[in-house]
Amino acid sequence: MLDPQVLAALGDLVGPDGLITRPGQARVYECDGWTLEKRVPEAVVLPRTPAEVAAAVRLLHRHAIAFVPRGAGTGLSGGCLPLDAPVMICTSRLKRIVEIDLVNRRAVVEAGVVNLAVSRAVAAHGLFYAPDPSSQSACTIGGNVAENSGGPHTLKYGVTTNHILGLELVLPDGEVVELGGAMEDVPGYDLRGLVVGAEGTMGLVTRATLRLTRQPEGVRTLLAVFESVDDACNAVSGIIGVGIIPAALEMMDQLMVSAVEAAFHFGFPTDAGAVLIIELDGALAELDAEVEAVRRVCAAQRAREVRVARDDAERAALWKSRKRAFGAVGRLAPNYCTQDGVVPRTKVPDILRAIAAIAARHRLRIANVFHAGDGNIHPILLYDERDADEVRRVIAAGHEILRACVDLGGSITGEHGIGVEKIQELPLLFSPQDLLVMQQLRAAFDAAGRCNPGKIFPTPGACVEVTRPRHRQVAL
Ligand SMILES: Cc1cc2nc3c(=O)[nH]c(=O)nc-3n(C[C@H](O)[C@H](O)[C@H](O)COP(=O)(O)OP(=O)(O)OC[C@H]3O[C@@H](n4cnc5c(N)ncnc54)[C@H](O)[C@@H]3O)c2cc1C
Repeated sequence: MLDPQVLAALGDLVGPDGLITRPGQARVYECDGWTLEKRVPEAVVLPRTPAEVAAAVRLLHRHAIAFVPRGAGTGLSGGCLPLDAPVMICTSRLKRIVEIDLVNRRAVVEAGVVNLAVSRAVAAHGLFYAPDPSSQSACTIGGNVAENSGGPHTLKYGVTTNHILGLELVLPDGEVVELGGAMEDVPGYDLRGLVVGAEGTMGLVTRATLRLTRQPEGVRTLLAVFESVDDACNAVSGIIGVGIIPAALEMMDQLMVSAVEAAFHFGFPTDAGAVLIIELDGALAELDAEVEAVRRVCAAQRAREVRVARDDAERAALWKSRKRAFGAVGRLAPNYCTQDGVVPRTKVPDILRAIAAIAARHRLRIANVFHAGDGNIHPILLYDERDADEVRRVIAAGHEILRACVDLGGSITGEHGIGVEKIQELPLLFSPQDLLVMQQLRAAFDAAGRCNPGKIFPTPGACVEVTRPRHRQVAL
């Protein structure tokens, strides 16, 4: 139980409306999008400024109290589950876009700014913020930094780390440091790059300097319809093989298409084996030739139809269907668990076959919607949390899918992070020595392990049991 004097001091720092301690209200924060594990925090702190974040962290440090950072809670690996940390610090009131520098194409924003708000703020100037997770209308820049998030358009534009120039970080003892900066390159170790993707285990990001990207001159969005998932996968490799890097290359299988069509009535053919959403962007003079080249590749893979969105409205409707696909899954089952793995692009047909076999073995329904161009798969395992046996089968199937990704030369996360969900899979990729080096690195920021404890790293015992590293990832 938290000391009432500490709670009172936190309340003094952030104001009475900035501290939640009533269990009924705190329940809202019991999990993120990984709903298989839940824990209600004892207190949720909602600072209004980076200075309040630093003051709250200093106070917790003085009392040796662990905390977990949280943005919008859209994470899918349990990253902000309050494990061994009674206090949650939520950035939802850190919403200021501090500066937009059009000439140098960068923006300084607070950590709680919602991803889509950045692109909206600069759209009139012909700019956008490129990393676009499908959750972009809700997730925060701080969460994106912590997870090194990707999105449909990161195939061409790169993931979050490619668009972060600098960070303001509150270290676990409350000290405020600047990592990176406004310049493209800074001397010394790339500590900014280290914190991007650290899943909130090295401190709490309060501000980020973002790189802004010029909007392309033209965009063409195509919907290609295939009889089978294999044909769609071959088309993905074919498109990239002819030298075209689409801005986005997304796939949905039949189960997913049926759910999305029932929800959004876009006009998807519900009897198709798979559909691809292919977006091409760039100079207007080149786009029509690229559309024709993509049509040819799809025809060679027996595409039933290739449609080009007629206008911005149709393009927006197509993307709305894709980006809200997870929401449409509610029509298929009361609960779902989104897995996240990655395989070499050419192995996508193999992993989809493996997923189908795993689904059959565990008597589960699994829908697939994913960033096919990156080989980043998102099988969605459908279940009913009131059925304990089904929950067990979902967890087992998830582990098997990740193992299959590793066996195919891939990895256990494309973009959703390790969190609590994939802790036991980490040793499939890393040796005990690798893990030790990573923990030592983390300890340089958080020696006491009080910032987001219980995440990413397996306990030493578990590590030894399951370790069969395939490659040495870290040199000692
Ligand atoms: C429908 C849906 C679609 C999604 N699509 C994508 C997608 O296309 N691509 C993708 O990559 N992800 C996707 N995600 C996953 C998720 O949206 C991202 O991981 C996102 O970046 C999480 O942001 P958040 O603000 O919700 O963070 P949270 O869920 O609140 O936190 C995530 C992690 O970041 C840490 N954290 C949060 N804020 C900070 C901070 N300021 N400083 C330090 N650590 C912090 C937390 O401790 C936690 O470990 C999707 C999720 C959903 C529900």
